[in-house]
Amino acid sequence: MLTTVEALETILAAMPVLPAEVHGASRVTGRILRQPVIAERDQPPFDRVMMDGIAARHAEIAAGRREFPLQATQMAGQPALILEPGHCIEIMTGAALPAGADCIVPVERISVAGGVATIEAGYEATARQFIHARGSDYAQGDQLLGPGQRIAALDIAVIASAGLTEVSVSASPSIRVISTGDELVPAGEPIEPHQVRLSNGPAICAMLAAHGYGDSRHDHLVDEKAELERRIGKHLDEADVLVLSGGVSMGKADYVPEVLATLGVELVFHKVAQRPGKPMWFGMAPGDKAVFALPGNPVSALVCCRQYVVPALDKASMRPAPLPEFATLASDVAFEPDLTCFQPVRLVSSAGGQLLALPVRTNTSGDFAALSGTDGYVELMQAQSHFPTGTPVFLRRW
Ligand code: AMP
Ligand code: MG
Repeated sequence: MLTTVEALETILAAMPVLPAEVHGASRVTGRILRQPVIAERDQPPFDRVMMDGIAARHAEIAAGRREFPLQATQMAGQPALILEPGHCIEIMTGAALPAGADCIVPVERISVAGGVATIEAGYEATARQFIHARGSDYAQGDQLLGPGQRIAALDIAVIASAGLTEVSVSASPSIRVISTGDELVPAGEPIEPHQVRLSNGPAICAMLAAHGYGDSRHDHLVDEKAELERRIGKHLDEADVLVLSGGVSMGKADYVPEVLATLGVELVFHKVAQRPGKPMWFGMAPGDKAVFALPGNPVSALVCCRQYVVPALDKASMRPAPLPEFATLASDVAFEPDLTCFQPVRLVSSAGGQLLALPVRTNTSGDFAALSGTDGYVELMQAQSHFPTGTPVFLRRW
C-alpha cells in the first residue's frame, strides 16, 4: 500500500499540464498566470510630484528666500516645464517634476498674492521632498509577475500598468464531481428514514471552487453497473478531471473500480496507508484524464479532496506547490494503526507567537459536521503512534 507521500507524488507525476489560453485582463482574477508580466516603463515613469503646491529650487529656499514669483501652472498629464531661477511653478499631484526644480512645498505651507507665492515663516524644506523618484519602484524590463502565480485582485493594477489588455493563463480544468450511492437523496427532495442526504458532491464542488477551480458539475449516480458505465463514460468524454465519491470499498455495491476498468481507465493505485480515506482509488483515462475515486465517508472524501485533488489541479495549472506549513500540537494525540492520520484541527496562536493546532475529534469518518469550524488538518506520519503536545506537525488548511 502506498504511503500518503508516495500517493501524492504519484498523482502529481501523472497529472498532465493544462493548455494556456489568452483572456482579457479584466477577467483573469483568480487564474494562474502562464506568462511573465514585464514592466513597460520605469515606475514612476518620471519624477512624480506627490503634493499639490509649488515646485522650486531647494538651494534657493535653504538660502533664506521665501517669496517666489509664479512662473506658470503645471497640471498632471502636462509635459514638464523648465523652471527659471528665482521662480516657482504651481504644481499638482501626479505632475512630472519641472526641469530645474528639486523641492515641492505643499499648498498648505504657502500663500499666494499678486502672482507671488510666499512660503510660511519658519517652514523648513528638504531637498527632493514630496518627489517620488523615477524608477524607484521598479525599472523598465523588470519582471513584475511570473508564470505560475495566482492572479490576485491587487495584481490587476500591475497588469494594467504594464500596458497589457490581455494575458495568458492556464485553462480552467473542466471537472465532474460524481456522487454514487442508492441511499443518497439531494437536499430539496423528500427523504425516507433509511436514506441519507447527499452532501459530498456539493461540498467537493465548493472546496474546488474555493481553490479557484469553479468549472465543475455534479452528478448523482445509483449503484447500478450499466448506468454507472454509461454516465461515467459520458463524463469522461466531456471533462478533464473526474472526482467520484463512494463505491470504492469492499461492499457488494462498490462497483466503481470495476466500472472504471471497463471504461479503459487505467488503475494507478488503489488504497493509501491513511485514515481517513484508505480505500482511495486513482487512475488515468485515455486522453490523459485524471480520475479520483474517493471513499464515500464524508470526512474521508473531503480530506482526500483537499490532500490530493486540489494539489493535482494546482499541478495541472502549473501552480507551484506551496511551501510546507507547520503547526505545533496543542494536545497529545495517540494513533496506533500503522497508517498516516489526517487529524482535523482548529488553529490558535499562542502568546509566544506559535501557531497551535487544537485537534478536533470526529465521531467516525462519517462525522462531517465536526469539520465545520476547523481550519484544516495536520498530518500525523505513519512511523509514529504517539504525538505529544508540542510536536511540530505538517498542516494543511482547508
Ligand atoms: P461508500 O464508500 O459508498 O461505501 O459510502 C460510505 C458511507 O458514506 C456511506 O454511509 C454512505 O452513505 C456515505 N456517503 C457516500 N457518498 C456520500 C455522499 N455523496 N454524501 C453523503 N454521504 C455519502
Ligand atoms: Mg456507496
